[in-house]
Amino acid sequence: MAAQPYRGRFAPTPSGPLHFGSLVAALGSYLDALSHAGIWLVRIEDVDPPRNAPGASDAILRTLEAYGFEWEETVQYQSQRSDAYREALEQLRQLGRVYACTCTRKQLADIARRGVDGPVYPGTCRARPNLDHAAALRLHVPAGRIVFADGQQGLVACDVATECGDFVLQRADSVFAYHLAVVVDDAAQGVSHVVRGADLLTSTPRHIILQRVLGLDAPNYLHLPVVLDEHGKKLSKQTLAAPIDARAPLTGLIQAAAFLGMSIDHPPQTPSEFWEWAVPAWSRRRIDPLRGRRWRTGSNPCKS
Ligand code: GLU
Ligand code: ZN
Repeated sequence: MAAQPYRGRFAPTPSGPLHFGSLVAALGSYLDALSHAGIWLVRIEDVDPPRNAPGASDAILRTLEAYGFEWEETVQYQSQRSDAYREALEQLRQLGRVYACTCTRKQLADIARRGVDGPVYPGTCRARPNLDHAAALRLHVPAGRIVFADGQQGLVACDVATECGDFVLQRADSVFAYHLAVVVDDAAQGVSHVVRGADLLTSTPRHIILQRVLGLDAPNYLHLPVVLDEHGKKLSKQTLAAPIDARAPLTGLIQAAAFLGMSIDHPPQTPSEFWEWAVPAWSRRRIDPLRGRRWRTGSNPCKS
């Protein structure tokens, strides 16, 4: 059987400029793709309009370019993909897996217990026919454990029904959920390998559930250690992590490579020297499994 062609991607949310944490995800996914003679795509995850910062998509693409990343095919924007998300939702509805939920935030706070990633919705509205057009739509999550082998984190197992509960596919304000969008887009773009930060590790079992219900192939997953700030918090646009400097690509690239465990004996002098060195030097095995450890144990009770 012919090996599946490698198709990787980097999928930033344009809620602000790229920071060091997103550079690490971009670099890890890029080097893993190129070292497997694969192709690398960029997708702008602007599915949630209130989170999009003006000008951020273009700034992200310009910064990636300045750093020497080269993507193939055209950049896909989630804001243009509503028809595909609607179609997937319709398919789920026909399978009897979608229901409307009219619970208020306050009601949710009263009925939900805390799970791996926020409140676990107990399925209160499942049996209620809700014709309210302003309702959120939830997936009726099938019972049972999801187990998958992560390229970096090892075997991960999670019972989504009890750890996350029936999650939202489309919000009451009609915005499609990230979980639905990412699954539909990875499948539509033929993505075979998802390399991203371990902050998304608890989301992956939900993505695998959706892939199974929709009859889509699951990509291979590799979750990279998360870059933490001095307080042990994930660097993020919400915590106003400093943007990476588009004018000093070499420094950022070398630091991101070092974060991913690459040892640099003779520091490259130019970005193109960096890329010449980095692609053949990349090895998943060099990633330090203890990096970002506090993140994993602190917030991922998905048992492995
Ligand atoms: N858009 C997500 C983020 O910027 C990444 C999603 C993914 O890689 O699946 O955190
Ligand atoms: Zn409800």
